[in-house]
Amino acid sequence: MNGVTVVALGRIEETVLEAVTTVLGHTFQIPVRTAPALPEPVFAYDQQRGQYGSVLVLRHILKERAEPASKVLGVTEKDLFIPMLSFVLGQAQLSGPAAVISLARLRQEFYGFAADGDLLITRAMKEAVHEIGHTFGLTHCTDNRCPMSLSNTVQHVDIKGTDLCATCATLFEEKRRQYPTSNNRSSAAG
Ligand SMILES: [Zn+2]
Ligand SMILES: [Zn+2]
Repeated sequence: MNGVTVVALGRIEETVLEAVTTVLGHTFQIPVRTAPALPEPVFAYDQQRGQYGSVLVLRHILKERAEPASKVLGVTEKDLFIPMLSFVLGQAQLSGPAAVISLARLRQEFYGFAADGDLLITRAMKEAVHEIGHTFGLTHCTDNRCPMSLSNTVQHVDIKGTDLCATCATLFEEKRRQYPTSNNRSSAAG
């Protein structure tokens, strides 16, 4: 069974990477490994927006996969965007190989509050499950406690749990039987 490679873009706290690795292995029952960190994604910087283009990041991290049929999750501190949205907490290729999450807006400091390391870790775990769920073909869930529900704000991220709802868990099992032969690769933001 092919797994997921977690790769930091720039310096990311070990505790965050460990938590993300653990929750992905637990949720999807797949091997998860971490790759050596890549440099900051300066190539994706958009001077006008002062943010980083997530599509370029996705393309860049593809080569970090252990093998062609496996998945890769990038983790960055940089604030990500896609052209039609002011920001994204993460992005993934639906039924594709690559996903990325940004910690920028998961940090309490972003909103002027004191840093909260545990809350950051919990939020990162939920967003990692969400984006890797997309790579396995899961789409947005209407249950706002399910990690596959769409989050545009951290308030919504905080309502979600890390465990897939029963519907998404069943869907994942179905998708997994087809994986890795699926070649339906459109993009899913958010
Ligand atoms: Zn769900
Ligand atoms: Zn999504």
